[in-house]
Amino acid sequence: MPENEAIDLAARAVRAACEVTRALQDDLSRTRDAHAKADESPVTIADFAAQAVIGTFLGEPFVGEEGAALLLESPGLRERVLEAARRALPGLDEAQLVEAIQLGEASPSGDGFWTLDPVDGTKGFLRGGHYCVCLARIEAGTPRVAAVGCPRLGPSPGEVDGPGALILAERDRAGEPGRGRVFIAPLDDPTSRAAVLTPERPLDRSRIRITESVDPSHSDLELGPRLLRQAGLEAEEPLRLDSQVKYVVVARGDAHAYLRRPREGYADSIWDHAGGSLVAELAGARVTDLDGRPLDFRWGRRLEKNRGVLVAPPALHARLLEAMRQLEDAS
Ligand code: AMP
Ligand code: MG
Repeated sequence: MPENEAIDLAARAVRAACEVTRALQDDLSRTRDAHAKADESPVTIADFAAQAVIGTFLGEPFVGEEGAALLLESPGLRERVLEAARRALPGLDEAQLVEAIQLGEASPSGDGFWTLDPVDGTKGFLRGGHYCVCLARIEAGTPRVAAVGCPRLGPSPGEVDGPGALILAERDRAGEPGRGRVFIAPLDDPTSRAAVLTPERPLDRSRIRITESVDPSHSDLELGPRLLRQAGLEAEEPLRLDSQVKYVVVARGDAHAYLRRPREGYADSIWDHAGGSLVAELAGARVTDLDGRPLDFRWGRRLEKNRGVLVAPPALHARLLEAMRQLEDAS
């Protein structure tokens, strides 16, 4: 797929999907009780509708988080999802809805493929807080294009809570790792593209602000303070955020480092990291797992060969990785 075509398609698809998820999130306070049943929860409707919208734009098989099985069983759910998706695609019918979601049931392929998390950060979505619509294209085992829609983030540095931002990233096809372009724009303004700031910050005087999950079952929240102590660095209050927004806040310097340590044996899904990791990498951060290995997208739907995530500007990354090794040697 030609380079500009891929990123423009991703941008249009993600903007349209965000229109749908935003409307559902805005409606949450009114509809929460009506959706008490797990399979008709607002987040489920948002997941399916966003995947349907993006599947329609892509028009080819891709690796999505959702499948259509539940929809096929439940006409009521199908109807609600169709109604939601029609906000972006007014002409969509039920058969097209199901087909577009099913396009996302494909398996990863060596030739390159799109991967999608239609609503990353379910808990944030339900809380009326941060979540992302994350679409990325993987080629040769690594993300090459990403569109990350963040409806609760502000487009300006420091604006963690704001009216919505779209981050677009594209790796130079022929370039070295880390080479490419990354832009942030207001989610509502398709014509505006401002460069994402580089995240390099002076380390000598600063207290380090870690960004990490809100949910303690997703990541060991005690790791941050231990690691910083080991590295001889002072900790600022952590920035706890749901979803891949964590990669974005490191990419533009609102936080110094993103740390993630899932419980032993849990392998993260590729759609939970593909888009965000490309954004942070192209903004100048180093993205590895807790052992210093690059995230390896060649092993199917999960990051089978990686353990957790460590993202930071290079100097800080090196220091934290060293501290990580020391902590593990000591234990
Ligand atoms: P976060 O918002 O960073 O806390 O992570 C959200 C993502 O964590 C979701 O999209 C899930 O795919 C993923 N997830 C679900 N269960 C776990 C778990 N036990 N450990 C780590 N990540 C998980
Ligand atoms: Mg997710």
